[in-house]
Amino acid sequence: MKVLIADDDALSRKILEDALSEWGYEILMAHNGNEAWDILEKNDRPNLAVLDWIMPGMDGVEICKRLRKLSLPNYVYVILLTARNKREDVIYGLESGADDYIIKPFHHEELKSRLKIGQRIIELEHRILRLASTDYLTGLLNRRAFLERLERELNRCQREASPMGIIIMDIDHFKKVNDNYGHQAGDLVLQELSTTLVTLCRVYDFIGRYGGEEFIVCLPGADKWNTYQIAERMRSIVENKNILLPDKGTSVSVTASFGIVSMEPGQRKSADRLINEADEALYRAKDQGRNQVVMYISD
Ligand code: GH3
Ligand code: MG
Ligand code: MG
Repeated sequence: MKVLIADDDALSRKILEDALSEWGYEILMAHNGNEAWDILEKNDRPNLAVLDWIMPGMDGVEICKRLRKLSLPNYVYVILLTARNKREDVIYGLESGADDYIIKPFHHEELKSRLKIGQRIIELEHRILRLASTDYLTGLLNRRAFLERLERELNRCQREASPMGIIIMDIDHFKKVNDNYGHQAGDLVLQELSTTLVTLCRVYDFIGRYGGEEFIVCLPGADKWNTYQIAERMRSIVENKNILLPDKGTSVSVTASFGIVSMEPGQRKSADRLINEADEALYRAKDQGRNQVVMYISD
């Protein structure tokens, strides 16, 4: 795990650096408050920081105050390190946004334990974020997480003038699977098909569970023919797949309909528009008899 150390005193820096690297942390070093702030402002900021209170430029407390005003995607756990040892100082430091406070000269084992607390909090946050973005049945991104990622990817593709494909897949007559074999069998079909979709995607593609039996795939860099080919391969593999039901000695097979759309290089479409267009194509695929891929064509 990366840790920012900020201290203006060379000897303190050296002691901290030796200790933290021995404990396995990857260290980013700042010689004063302004350097520390430069590191914390960047997107690849560390999630753990050990800040000296008194430094030239911005001090540790000021950094805490500013940090807590930012709306960051991940928490930064801050331990303030200082020779100030009055109770009012401790309270002021914590009220300013520090998570913990160590009085210099610090005890090695104490700092090690307190860093571990920070690490636990950060790992907990990662776990919560992962749970909040994952669909529990299939392990795919849930709808909200998919849409967030799509926005980011869309901006990137537009900036780099590269194409992007979107595929929406909806299982045909899925209600019948539930009616004929039971809801648990339906769940198993959803899980098996999710795994199939994952294996058909490239590393930079991502898949979400968009609704009950609807999946959505984003293919950055794919033009309309790539998108069509991938969707067609998905369709054919779904059609030919037999899903064995564990205790029934029988297998189920389903088909699915696909609506696809692409954003050509240099084109600007919003995420909403792309999804609406793919949805419109999906409706046509259903209307024309299901088990097929339909590409959205603008009039
Ligand atoms: P169509 O070909 O028009 O898409 O027909 P359909 O039956 O697939 O569509 P419909 O929207 O009528 O029904 C979707 C079904 O998907 C109904 C719902 O019970 C089922 N479903 C949604 N989520 C889940 C789930 O998590 N597990 C199971 N087993 N079934 C689900
Ligand atoms: Mg549906
Ligand atoms: Mg359906």
